[in-house]
Amino acid sequence: MQNAHAINADLHCHSTVSDGTLAPAEVAARASAGGVAFWALTDHDELGGQAEARAAAEAHGIRYVPGVEISVTWANQTVHIVGLQIDATHPYLIDGLARTRDGRARRAADISDALARIGIEGAYAGALRHVGNPDLISRTHFARWLVDEGYCESISEVFDKYLSEGRPGYVGHRWASLSDAVGWILKAGGIAVMAHPGRYHYTDTQHDALFDEFTQLGGRAVEVVTGSHTPDQFKRYAEVARHYGLLASRGSDFHGPGEGRVEIGTLPPLPATVTPIWHNW
Ligand code: AMP
Ligand code: MN
Ligand code: MN
Ligand code: MN
Repeated sequence: MQNAHAINADLHCHSTVSDGTLAPAEVAARASAGGVAFWALTDHDELGGQAEARAAAEAHGIRYVPGVEISVTWANQTVHIVGLQIDATHPYLIDGLARTRDGRARRAADISDALARIGIEGAYAGALRHVGNPDLISRTHFARWLVDEGYCESISEVFDKYLSEGRPGYVGHRWASLSDAVGWILKAGGIAVMAHPGRYHYTDTQHDALFDEFTQLGGRAVEVVTGSHTPDQFKRYAEVARHYGLLASRGSDFHGPGEGRVEIGTLPPLPATVTPIWHNW
């Protein structure tokens, strides 16, 4: 294999099957146009886009990596765990994800009620106009509608003003446990990856405890270069990868054209000090 660090891998992207704006085949076309060689679609708590993503990737001559991003609650905060090289037809994983998704509709109604209390009416119906998969209504769909309606200029402004923890439209939710999420991924033959750790608001002690527990459960990798990290965080999480003996992953967390900071396949390569998760694929 050529030097693994030189391979353009993008192992974290979303489609209309969760909270992205493009269909799986359209994301594959964009990955191909961006020069991606190894690509994973990692929709939130959903495997419904995997067959389309694989077929489209292969039609473009891209190596497809089956993936998912699982919502977890750990120490009262939300953590995301990416599963790569999973068997996307494994019943244990499929059942676990179905249970994790359960409750999103109820939570969406509660978010809508919370927004109505501050004078924003009709948010549930508005968010539904952006939903591609009725089983997967996300805060992102509310955010797109609030931008459409002129409440904010951008999705990140919506999160800052309304939808992040502590803001008036925030509704807490209990997702899967860390041990369940890692367990489903391992049962389905996959590799568990700690997604964008730079986004979490833990104390140093909690941060270390999270990585200790994750590795003890069989977690094997961490996202080092992601659209959610700053260049300083690329360095910091390269150190974390080395400290815990974890492989390193790279992914844009693309949600759609014009959303987020990075386009598919355009991030810098992984630091030379880490081992890419794809080193032996
Ligand atoms: P949910 O799973 O419904 O809680 O929605 C989580 C999704 O909201 C994430 O996957 C991101 O796509 C999006 N999100 C969360 N925080 C932000 C933020 N600060 N700016 C933009 N998007 C965000
Ligand atoms: Mn998302
Ligand atoms: Mn995430
Ligand atoms: Mn993501």
